[in-house]
Amino acid sequence: MKYPKIRELIEAVKSLISKPYTSGYPFKPHTPEKKFRGKPEYHKDSCVGCAACSEVCPAGCIKVIDSTDSDKPSRKLELHLDSCIFCGQCQAACITQEGIRLSDKFDLAVFDRNEAIESIEKELVLCEGCGCLVGSKDHLVWVAKKLGPLAYSGPTAYLSALKDLKLAYLKIEKPEELTRQDRVNILCPKCRREITLET
Ligand code: SF4
Ligand code: SF4
Repeated sequence: MKYPKIRELIEAVKSLISKPYTSGYPFKPHTPEKKFRGKPEYHKDSCVGCAACSEVCPAGCIKVIDSTDSDKPSRKLELHLDSCIFCGQCQAACITQEGIRLSDKFDLAVFDRNEAIESIEKELVLCEGCGCLVGSKDHLVWVAKKLGPLAYSGPTAYLSALKDLKLAYLKIEKPEELTRQDRVNILCPKCRREITLET
């Protein structure tokens, strides 16, 4: 076609005198829209270390690393931002609703992938019978608070709450053999079943 179409000509003139649709970033700061899904961030005080966010992450970018052999058993939740797809499933599934939230941060480029890892650490509670993992300390306390008076129907829940209030203390030595009196301890389901059924 020899001459441009009239419609294209009008569009070209309009674009010369109107504001651009795109933002001026990176030359000007950019504020994302209200519901923009940016970098997920852990909030230490609200996260209880339950690992539900890791279970639902479709990209598998939240790694759970449990260290149960050390003097201070701990759980590390590692968020690998270089694989995050910003879907928001971690935030939606967070049991406290505040443990992990998507921020409006979007400028996440790094040269070294290790710089794209963020982590949070939580204390773990082990079974006082066999030493296997029961859960994170904050998670057990959260469950006890959620249950309220019903927590007193299970020693693991109410002892976790009492220990958090410093009204009960962890036994240091593990018993040689579980006896009936060990029922009033923090125990894994297997040990509790053994004590209840076999002693
Ligand atoms: S936003 Fe989606 S991909 Fe990113 S950490 Fe959360 S669940 Fe995983
Ligand atoms: S409390 Fe929320 S952020 Fe923390 S581990 Fe559980 S689901 Fe993840």
